[in-house]
Amino acid sequence: MQLVFVGPPGAGKGTQSEWLSNFLTIPHLSTGDMLRAAVEQKSDIGKSAQDFIQGGKLVPDDIVMELVDSRLDAEDCNNGFLLDGFPRTLEQAKMLDQLLSRRGMPLNLVLELTAGDNQLLQRLVDRGRGDDSPKIIQNRFRVYRNQTEPLLQYYSEKDILKSIDGSGSREEVREHIRLAISRQDPGVA
Ligand code: AMP
Repeated sequence: MQLVFVGPPGAGKGTQSEWLSNFLTIPHLSTGDMLRAAVEQKSDIGKSAQDFIQGGKLVPDDIVMELVDSRLDAEDCNNGFLLDGFPRTLEQAKMLDQLLSRRGMPLNLVLELTAGDNQLLQRLVDRGRGDDSPKIIQNRFRVYRNQTEPLLQYYSEKDILKSIDGSGSREEVREHIRLAISRQDPGVA
């Protein structure tokens, strides 16, 4: 199964992805994690990405696409995967469609996780990552609204978008997700 998680910063994509990738035994591919690892390793990609991440801006599409394309070549992606935080622009979504159609593995479902602004903010403050300072958070919210939200329409027109209320407890949200997936593919969940 090929899945995507979309949602604003703090919606719980990372937390729910960890559970869901175990549940479905498919790898969890987080472009944020991949980029942070590249920064840590001081690789060329990491050096190019660092300032964008620290400023709460999106890393340019070509850099992210290169990371995703090579990660999808790994054998553990043969039975599907869960993309978390990617795609984040319409351009990335279209390029992803091309990558996946080349591989004969179209997306089955795009899960949008939602929560109220105050709750999102609180979760980010509690998490306290390097790019979770108040000013950078505001940037990341703005980037989400302007650049990522248009994806919702794109996937809704393809009829693969499912919105999930992410405001409850971890377990409640998990149950909403499990239900959405079992509706999509009763054999799986
Ligand atoms: P995340 O861990 O998903 O919150 O991502 C942290 C940061 O990594 C973002 O604020 C961006 O700077 C960068 N990033 C992660 N995924 C992408 C993506 N798909 N496109 C561009 N930048 C990304």
